[in-house]
Amino acid sequence: MPPDTPVSALSLDIDWHALQANWRALDRLSGEARAGAAVKANAYGIGVRKTVAALAEAGCRDFFVAYASEADEICDLTDSASISVLHGPLTDEDARQIRAMGAKPVVNSVLQAQRWRDAGGGPCDVMVDTGINRLGLTMEDLSHEAIRALDVDILMSHLASADEDVSLNRSQLERWNAARAQLQHRRASLANSAGIALGKQYHGDLTRPGLSLYGGVPRVELEGEIRQVIIPQAAIMQVREIGEGDGIGYNSMFRAAGPMRIAAVAMGYADGYLRCWSNAGFFCAGEHRLPVLGRVSMDITMVDISSAPDLREGDRVSAEWALPAASEASGLSQYELLTLLGRRFAR
Ligand SMILES: *Cc1c(COP(=O)(O)O)cnc(C)c1O
Repeated sequence: MPPDTPVSALSLDIDWHALQANWRALDRLSGEARAGAAVKANAYGIGVRKTVAALAEAGCRDFFVAYASEADEICDLTDSASISVLHGPLTDEDARQIRAMGAKPVVNSVLQAQRWRDAGGGPCDVMVDTGINRLGLTMEDLSHEAIRALDVDILMSHLASADEDVSLNRSQLERWNAARAQLQHRRASLANSAGIALGKQYHGDLTRPGLSLYGGVPRVELEGEIRQVIIPQAAIMQVREIGEGDGIGYNSMFRAAGPMRIAAVAMGYADGYLRCWSNAGFFCAGEHRLPVLGRVSMDITMVDISSAPDLREGDRVSAEWALPAASEASGLSQYELLTLLGRRFAR
């Protein structure tokens, strides 16, 4: 068995109804714009094929991936003409591949525009950089003849700090509006999840939520609108009793003050349950909250099950993974909490 085949001791409990409800909420909050979906990086680690199928069923039409290979994974599930490849054609081969599957590249540079034209061209999207200084055309590039010659569906830009109230949001909005006046296009798009909460000026024709589809809450306005989607679960492999003074795990980072019942849970930092949860995280079994004891190791985390006397070897427990709270507690971003969960989880 290859090492990255899921093992049955770990699973991701995924609430597909919550995912669909989150898309509907974001679509509603997008006002007159429609919501698409960012499904790059295997839908933030959730599993891209099931995510696209569920979102398409909810009514989502536009999907955003990073690479041509990621578009290829889903182009049988949806109209391939509504899949946007955010990194654009990185090579000539990329351009040919995107064209052959009937998806759209997001053109980020003049060179990419020429590459797309040389591969035969066709409808594409354009990313204009309005202040994030990451990927995308400059405002000056918009008047380049290679850009003017494109058949542009979505003219998009990406917000750098939509999760904060800073003046950059407004200046990016103004530049995006200027870009809309400069280059012909069918639809305009600016907002990611957080940007949706900035109000209708930011909505254009299409929004591009990712994080909040999967349960992330980047701004307070989205609290109460977004449901938790994933819960990492793992099996208890062994239960033991320890006494006063006994140390647990590597370097005995936890020492028992008295008798306690502890369990070895089949999840560790190799699965994305990072060492920041050592002596800090919690697992749950029904109503019981089970504190992590000592250092998280590669494949095993020890928890205190003194409060849950019925727990046995083979029972499953859930990591506390509500994204805003887990992010606060760990210092990891909500994005990282989603994307770092490893391949051993059955999805
Ligand atoms: C990832 C991504 C999104 C989605 O952003 P979230 O913050 O996850 O909602 C939207 N647009 C672009 C260009 C992206 O790269």
